[in-house]
Amino acid sequence: MSYDAQARMQLLFALRSRGVTDARVLDAMERTDRGLFVRGIFADRAYEDMPLPIACGQTISQPSVVGLMSQALQVSARDKVLEIGTGSGYQAAVLSHLARRVYTIDRHKRLADAAKEVLAGLDISNVTVLAADGSHGLPEQSPFDRILVTAAAEDPPGPLLAQLRIGGIMVVPVGQSDHVQTLIRVTRTETGYDYDDLRPVRFVPLVEGMGRD
Ligand code: SAH
Repeated sequence: MSYDAQARMQLLFALRSRGVTDARVLDAMERTDRGLFVRGIFADRAYEDMPLPIACGQTISQPSVVGLMSQALQVSARDKVLEIGTGSGYQAAVLSHLARRVYTIDRHKRLADAAKEVLAGLDISNVTVLAADGSHGLPEQSPFDRILVTAAAEDPPGPLLAQLRIGGIMVVPVGQSDHVQTLIRVTRTETGYDYDDLRPVRFVPLVEGMGRD
């Protein structure tokens, strides 16, 4: 077995041991080669269960966190999903195997362009990558069945709550950016929103406005 194949298999074991047990999520992650989303000097660490630096001072999330978030989102094959924080595009690629349609937004055009290219190279055609300030959501495509925010907000952003379908689920890390944050799950009901605390996490902050590159 090649080094990469062995490293990828070890990563799948690590995911399971860290609580990623949903068969659809594991399958989606098995189909998504993280090595394609990490460039430069950290490329040889792509199959380790750790966050890694990407361009624009951002990070590609830890694979087990990608798995646990995807699992918490309970995505079905009929769902239209919005992701805020494209970063490398890795989480969006995983979601593409779980959902019908994925919209993903990053405030750095450079990251959005790079992610678009990798996803196109993988023949993933149900993901639309947009360079924009995702804190406003994507009103023209709302409502969404699922919303995943992969940057930390002090509170779940109001426009995103408003763009969630009734019965829809949003997973978002909340808390101050330089502290440990809490991953929460918000479920929209007929009359309001239910909130569950899931686990401590650490994400880069959700920043308003466009990035410089
Ligand atoms: N999901 C990514 C990792 C996200 S890192 C992956 O799989 O690689 C967080 C990302 O959120 C960064 O790329 C950052 O640029 C982006 N971000 C922060 N604030 C944002 C905003 N207001 N709108 C859109 N993207 C934002």
